[in-house]
Amino acid sequence: MALEKRNLYRFPWSMNDNPIAWLEITDICNIHCEGCYRQHLTGHKPLDQVKEEILFFKKWRNPDNVSIAGGEPLIHPQIMEIVAFIAEQGIKPIVLTNGVALTPELLRELKRAGLAGFTIHIDSHQNRPRWLDKTEKDLNELRQHFADMIAVQGGVYVIFNSTVYPSTFHEIPDVLHWGQANIDRVHGLVFITYRTATTDDSVALYGDQEVDLGKLSYTRESFDEKFVTSSEVYQILKDTCPEYEPSGYLGGTLRYDSFKWLAGAVIGSKHDVYGSMGKQTMEVVQAGHHLLRGTYLAYLSESKIGRKIFLLLPWDRTVRQAARNWWRDVVQHPGRFFESVYLQSIGIIQGPDLLPDGRADMCDSCPDMTVYDGKLINSCRMDEYRLFGGFISIAEKAEEAVG
Ligand code: SF4
Repeated sequence: MALEKRNLYRFPWSMNDNPIAWLEITDICNIHCEGCYRQHLTGHKPLDQVKEEILFFKKWRNPDNVSIAGGEPLIHPQIMEIVAFIAEQGIKPIVLTNGVALTPELLRELKRAGLAGFTIHIDSHQNRPRWLDKTEKDLNELRQHFADMIAVQGGVYVIFNSTVYPSTFHEIPDVLHWGQANIDRVHGLVFITYRTATTDDSVALYGDQEVDLGKLSYTRESFDEKFVTSSEVYQILKDTCPEYEPSGYLGGTLRYDSFKWLAGAVIGSKHDVYGSMGKQTMEVVQAGHHLLRGTYLAYLSESKIGRKIFLLLPWDRTVRQAARNWWRDVVQHPGRFFESVYLQSIGIIQGPDLLPDGRADMCDSCPDMTVYDGKLINSCRMDEYRLFGGFISIAEKAEEAVG
């Protein structure tokens, strides 16, 4: 199916009714990822402030989950209290981590405190000790280590994120194949396209005052490569796995043709991918969750969905196709009738794009808004507030006069 907005469900999320709340509890990290949006300016947030922010989200955001982020949240000394406090509010706590500090003991304690899931970020541009100069394929060993550790513990779900750089774009199939081979323990994969602003040909303004763009961690002197777009990531996923289809999207705040978030889920077993969830199912899931639980949904907490997913086939063409493929597989291998059927979410995120007029095309209804100074702001640009007082605009440098 062509990647067109009319073939997809536009997520109904908004600023005040959004399944995700992005809570940053520290800006300290134990590794240094090239694509990181945050730099160390302040340190671990005090527990009282973190609790206030959680209550702020509960009041103004109506989240299904709180994404506990940083920096590296697992090195915050009160991570257990934070997870427990979120769970006490009836919200799912999810830790976004690089995994460096994650041990089976810590995992057990987090689960006891009420943790719902992890998003583990692993890619080859993280300056990870003992994993330098590795390909995405090599890093599947590390992904496997965490996926197995979490599966052994049970009851906690895990999604693996990776940033896609122009140099690693062609390695996406290696990550996809690995994820699909582990569909019984990997609940989702997310691919985030790398974005940066360059200091050699741009100036930054806060109001009409020039500010030092180089202070931001997400700028670099120059970038000669072409950014990978979400549509290109979609195409490589589709070429690798023709059964994959996204079912929902978020567009841009300025460009009508952006795909800032593309999300969906494949239906498969340990042996094969049968198809995908379609836009009708995504609509039923979002509306149904909101009706029954009062919140929209961002993460599947249970991937072992079973054959009941095929009950949706009367009104979902893509589920119908998946059911046909599953049935064909069962006819060829009758023993598979008794095997589990899983859902695995696959997401693509394309961060802010700088437009020629200096403005940034952001994710419409940004799911990753965080609290800063009593305001909800896009977390990817919070350092502009922390360093300059608010969002900056970026313009091309005027040519210097010669002679
Ligand atoms: S606009 Fe929101 S969702 Fe998009 S990259 Fe920034 S923080 Fe993330």
